[in-house]
Parts: sequence; structure tokens; C-alpha cells
Amino acid sequence: MLRKESVKAVLLLSGGLDSLLAGKLIKDQGIDIYAFNMVTPFCSTKKDCLEHQAVLSAKELGIPIKIISVKEEYIEIIKNPKYGWGSGVNPCIDCRILLLKKAKKFMESIGAKFLITGEVLGQRPKSQHLKALKVIEKEAEVEGLVLRPLSAKFLPPSIPEKEGIVDRGKLLDIKGRSRKKQFELAYRFGLKNYGCPAGGCLLTDPEFSKKVKDAIKHDEFNLENLPFLLIGRHFRLPDGSHLVVGRNERECEFLIKRSNSKKKILPVGFKGASGIFIKDCSSCYEIAGGIILRYSKKDVGEIEIKGERESSRIFARRIPREKIEELKI
Ligand code: SF4
Repeated sequence: MLRKESVKAVLLLSGGLDSLLAGKLIKDQGIDIYAFNMVTPFCSTKKDCLEHQAVLSAKELGIPIKIISVKEEYIEIIKNPKYGWGSGVNPCIDCRILLLKKAKKFMESIGAKFLITGEVLGQRPKSQHLKALKVIEKEAEVEGLVLRPLSAKFLPPSIPEKEGIVDRGKLLDIKGRSRKKQFELAYRFGLKNYGCPAGGCLLTDPEFSKKVKDAIKHDEFNLENLPFLLIGRHFRLPDGSHLVVGRNERECEFLIKRSNSKKKILPVGFKGASGIFIKDCSSCYEIAGGIILRYSKKDVGEIEIKGERESSRIFARRIPREKIEELKI
């Protein structure tokens, strides 16, 4: 049997309670643990919340943490996930595969022997049932290398269990969506630094998912457009144009500041929302102006359409509420 102090393992630390507990259980068996966290542009509605939480959790466990960020390749996965989306545009199985692939690379780079996750069998319908766990391990080429201490008693023994590196007798039999046992354990271990259990994945949000699906359909889903999909009211105009209008002063300012080469649409001489065209087909400016007026106190007003070098002005009339609803993405 290997001397446990010499064995390194990589903990996939999300910042939630389950992975914190998984880490604690295995650290208490004398394994040398390194935390690993993958940040995507969709990790949280509160930016950096999860990253920050994972750092706090690593501190609580007294272990180092490696954080990586994935962008372009993650966007491509969302566009075309091999195993499909969940309730929104969340490609959970593909996302877990990518995470394990990245974690495996890190594991190899530090000479660690296996991976630890906080997965609980049956907790998430799309990615945490036995068949999905097997598919994920196979695709990520980490078969047998993933130890899931919270549900281990319901799962076939992993390599570190078979080799006696980890004592299977001390692993747990938690299953399903209830979190009662996890909260009891957190209390018993005195663990405090963990985030909300469901995490903050924007890709499961129905409103955001609608926008992403529309953007994918119109070939507009990319890193450049992403910040605009995260804010504002979105409209698809009859000519195919995609207009974003700020919901408050902060969003209007953000849109104008970050518009770069995109055309802006602005109220002239009156207070109102402004916006930008993510896609501009140039034949629906009156409707776009009518949308800007909908979010002002005026029925008729002058509107400026401003490009990088050119600018034009039109008079538009506020469009009816029903029409707005039809155009909303
Ligand atoms: S909920 Fe989001 S972060 Fe979690 S596995 Fe699914 S896609 Fe990935």
C-alpha cells in the first residue's frame, strides 16, 4: 500500500458545499489535495462570485487552488453540444467532459494520481446519473480515475479505492436532491465557506437561454456579442436586425461605451433609453426609433442612428405595447 502522504489528488472545487465536503473527506484520509476550478463566461450572474467562492473554499480546506478560464472553446460547445442542452442552453454533459479533460491535464502536470468531485448521484437529472457519469469519464479519458466520495457507496470502486490509496469504508452513501445530509456534515466539520448549492450557471436561465438560442440561429453567438446578451431588452426586427436597448442608465452607458463598430441608436433632445444594433439590416430604423420612444415619455421624437463615421436622424413614433411584445426576443 502507498504511503498516503505521498499521494496527490486533484479536487474539482466549484465553491459549492458538495465539493468542499468531498475535499474534506479525502484530505482527512491523508491525501495531498490540490483544488482546480474552471471559470466560464456563464458561471454566475454576479461576476467572479464562484471564482471567489472557490478560493474561499480552498482556503478553508488549507489547500492550493488552480483556476483556469475557458472562453472560445466553451462558446463552441454551447453552439453544438454532442450531448445536447438541458432545460436551457446548458450543455451539462459536454461541460463536465471539458472540465474533467482540463482537470486531467492539471493532474498529470503535478503528478497527481486521481480526481475528486463532489458529484452526488441523482442530484442533477442531466449529468449526475450513473449512465451520464460513465459517458463523461469515458469521453474525458479518465475512466476509473474519478473518486466521488459523497456517493461512493453507490458507485463501482474507483482506482484509488481498488488500490487502497483511499479507504472506501470511510466514504459516503448520499443520493438524490435532498441536501440534509450535506448540511449536517458541514455543521459537524465546522465548514462555513461555501456558495449556493445550485451554483449560478446562467445557461439554465430561461430568459438568457432564449437570447442565446436566437443568437445561435442568426449566427450572432460569439465572444464579441456576449456582453450585450447579458444585459438589456432584445428585439428582432422584421428585416432581421437585432436591437438591444438598455433598461437603465448604467446599461445604456455600457452599450454605448462598448459598441465599437456597432451602430448606436440615441434619443435626440429628450430623456430616454439608448441602444445598439448587434445586427443592422438598415431598413427598420423607424421601428427601432419607435422602440426607443416606448421607453421615454414622448409619443413622437427625433432619433439618431450613429455609425463609426456616419450618422443620420429620423422622426419616429412610439410603437404600441403589443407590437413591442411581438418583437421581443
Ligand atoms: S449547470 Fe452549467 S456549469 Fe453546471 S454542468 Fe451544466 S452547463 Fe456546466
